[in-house]
Amino acid sequence: MNEGERKGQSTRGTMVLSLDLELSWGRFDKIPVEVLSAESLAERQQIKRFLALLDQYEVPATWAIVGHLMLESCVRDGTGHAHAETMPHARYSWYPREWYSCDPCTNISLAPGWYGPDIVEWIRSARVHHEIGSHSFAHIMFGDPECSASTAEADIKAAVEVAACKGITLNSFVFPRNRVGHLEALRRLGISAYRGEDAPAIGKGYGLLLRPVNFLRQVLAIPMEPVQPEEVLPGLWNIPGNHFFLPRKGIRKILPRRGQALRAKRCIDKAVRTGQLYHMWFHPFDLLTDSDAMFLGLETVFDHARRLREKGLLDILTMEDYARRLAREKYGVPSESRQSM
Ligand SMILES: [Zn+2]
Repeated sequence: MNEGERKGQSTRGTMVLSLDLELSWGRFDKIPVEVLSAESLAERQQIKRFLALLDQYEVPATWAIVGHLMLESCVRDGTGHAHAETMPHARYSWYPREWYSCDPCTNISLAPGWYGPDIVEWIRSARVHHEIGSHSFAHIMFGDPECSASTAEADIKAAVEVAACKGITLNSFVFPRNRVGHLEALRRLGISAYRGEDAPAIGKGYGLLLRPVNFLRQVLAIPMEPVQPEEVLPGLWNIPGNHFFLPRKGIRKILPRRGQALRAKRCIDKAVRTGQLYHMWFHPFDLLTDSDAMFLGLETVFDHARRLREKGLLDILTMEDYARRLAREKYGVPSESRQSM
């Protein structure tokens, strides 16, 4: 129980929704690229549908987008290399190939899984004002010990530049696979907020043994604890996630269809009671399986959030706006002004 709860104060919570948009970049090391390419077309349909839902409930989101998706096309240089601007390229012992070996170096019509400027435009033309953030340039693993500072920095720089070409300033960052690393580079290149890892689920570290416990928590819709943002470097805020809105895949298909929405609503209520944060996240491709159930669940959550917002009990903010508010509360001035002070 925190101070707010102890005193029985009526407080105001915050909800943040962030989405990791990656298309083929997110899983080319795990899934055949032909499968991913076909999936990217189906994913586009779900993104359109989801944007309409966000408009309906006036829910702004932070769309963390893989920078390469902002391109219409790309080419290999004379030496056969893709994206010399991001060198030194990532090299990991678990992925024995050149990081860009799957990059088709063609264009959106021929390879819609690797380019997505159309999606960026849909997000920008939505009625609700969404934030366009970054999910790196090429979905490299920042938190991997094999990721050097120069690789991380070149990747972020490429993401910042491709966004700038579209008139977008990147302020928020989501680490690929939530592998946090190289925060100094992030801050240096102008990022003011990132989504930190979710608090470990109960029993994490005990492996398979306690998986049933976590499954049971889902069945019983036991809410996650609200999270607290933290300024980890001057002007850089960690806005941790606390609810991965799970896709209805595998064994999760047997979970009650409304269970996850109930859990989310309880999380939001807890954030309101404690004056803290509820941060939901997922990937648009998570909407591909059992789509109607996923949309029904999300609509239930957004309807609940909108009612609380109308009562003045909940703010629904993008990561960027939330980081600005935190800086204002802490220092009395927006973080960007403070940077130049
Ligand atoms: Zn490329």
